[in-house]
Amino acid sequence: MLTADSHVHSEWSWDTGGPHSEASGTMAATCEQAQRIGLPALVFTEHFDFEETWRAGTEEFPVAASRHINEAGYLVPPPLDVEGYFAAIAGCRRLFPDLTILSGVEFGQPHLVEDRARQLVDLTRFDRINGSLHTLPVGPDRAEPVTLYRWWDPDDVMSAYLDEVPAMLASTTFEVFTHLDYAVRHWPLEQAGPFDPRRFEEQFRAALRAIAESGRALEMNTRRLSSWLPQWWTEEGGRAVSFGSDAHVPTALASGFPEAQHMLEHFGFRRGRRPEHLWTR
Ligand SMILES: [Zn+2]
Ligand SMILES: [Zn+2]
Repeated sequence: MLTADSHVHSEWSWDTGGPHSEASGTMAATCEQAQRIGLPALVFTEHFDFEETWRAGTEEFPVAASRHINEAGYLVPPPLDVEGYFAAIAGCRRLFPDLTILSGVEFGQPHLVEDRARQLVDLTRFDRINGSLHTLPVGPDRAEPVTLYRWWDPDDVMSAYLDEVPAMLASTTFEVFTHLDYAVRHWPLEQAGPFDPRRFEEQFRAALRAIAESGRALEMNTRRLSSWLPQWWTEEGGRAVSFGSDAHVPTALASGFPEAQHMLEHFGFRRGRRPEHLWTR
């Protein structure tokens, strides 16, 4: 049986186009897809960003997200429409009574902005808060690995990403650390060859140890899931995992889940009482 997809985006995320665009209705379509494929539960974790110094080039972003880049070259993500989002969640719960639909956010760089976020939004309303590290410091600004790979040596980007992880754990708002391999997504193959995690093993292990010691769960992001990540997580004391497809379109829902679940069973993790519960060992 499929476990819950705990990292799903809908039209309420700024990089999908927004509730008034052609992406409108993605939340309902994603629930329909869940029923079609036998997924019992999912969490809509919309982007939740408060970054003001996010340097970006338009070519790195989908058209929907590029709309939010200003003339000075900064990406200014619009705030999540919390009321609209919760109304859509309520509507989907009415339409799909057999499906477990949880609310959530993907909180970007919570260690830098959580005070402001708390002032603006009652975070206790969400069932799940995923914490994501998308940007790294570059001078007084921040930028994503995909941007930094054009400016820095690839090894320096990877190292900077992993070095920032302990700082993010100072935040008290999030319970799951998402896609620790985020910087691997845009690794510059042509310039640096295939990504070899062993070259960064000590840094990955240090980051994993810090996450485990903080008592948090690690997300198994199924966009690319390699066995070294759950292996090192287990060896560094990790006790809990969630599964997330990071789907931005309905067809990507629960992508790679059968293999990912099988892999985590191999490392001794077991499903919880309900499909939306974390897997533990
Ligand atoms: Zn993310
Ligand atoms: Zn995401």
